[in-house]
Amino acid sequence: MLKTALIGSLVLASVALPSKAQNTSSSQETEHHIQHVRNATIKVTYGDTTFLVDPMLADKGAYPGFENTYRSELRNPMVDLPMPVDQLLNDVDAVVVTHTHLDHWDDAAQKHLPKDIPLFTQNNADAELIRSQGFSNVRVLGGQAEFAGVTLHKTGGQHGSDAIYAVPPLAEILGSVMGVVFEAPGYQTTYVVGDTLWRSEVEQAISQYRPGVIVLNTGAAAVSGFEDDPIIMGKQDTLTTHRAAPNATIIAVHMDAVNHMTLNRKELAEFVKQEGIEQHVAIPADGETLSF
Ligand SMILES: [Zn+2]
Repeated sequence: MLKTALIGSLVLASVALPSKAQNTSSSQETEHHIQHVRNATIKVTYGDTTFLVDPMLADKGAYPGFENTYRSELRNPMVDLPMPVDQLLNDVDAVVVTHTHLDHWDDAAQKHLPKDIPLFTQNNADAELIRSQGFSNVRVLGGQAEFAGVTLHKTGGQHGSDAIYAVPPLAEILGSVMGVVFEAPGYQTTYVVGDTLWRSEVEQAISQYRPGVIVLNTGAAAVSGFEDDPIIMGKQDTLTTHRAAPNATIIAVHMDAVNHMTLNRKELAEFVKQEGIEQHVAIPADGETLSF
């Protein structure tokens, strides 16, 4: 069913190119890039179509730290964007918001993005919220959708452990989340996992879509009182993900940018080296682009 839908809907990807092209792209039509912007904000480019995922676009220090979380005395974001907002947004064709926490969808993103930009959300509640903020082209990613030759598939997850979700106020704050798989024939599939722990939904998405690129949020964010029970993945989950997808390039993000992260890039880099998986795990700097 999936394959049939893809063949029927893709236009751009009919451009033939060798699969698994690694840094061999020479024209715009054959490019697949992931640019890490900051925190969980990334740009995913297939050919001449660019998706902006989870835009948090505020200047350094614009917001107080998240209440009742690790290091809440720090202000967010902890660092500036690596480029001017206009430059960041000038090639963006569509936006994906995996959930509406401030570090994935903020006031600055609402201010700077064109109000008619196509925008994908996880459910009706998020879509309604974003429409109420003035956006007119908001879609709910039900199962899959096609945009300019790229197929998007919604994937599941949970933004914390079952123990944390057993505490009603925390369950309400953490809410529901999604990940997204980007797929186009001839290109490596990219799985943006989103704010989730390692769970069966993630394992299932990896076995179903066989991504060549996996963007993992690995800052091991923690809420107060649950410092040992992070609400997103951390270093051990990076290893688990590698074992489930040994040929994939993992791009580790969502570190060094908001207050409640307990894992930083330096510690993750040491860990992946110690485990001998450093060739499979990219830990990009803000603004860095990886090509596939
Ligand atoms: Zn987050």
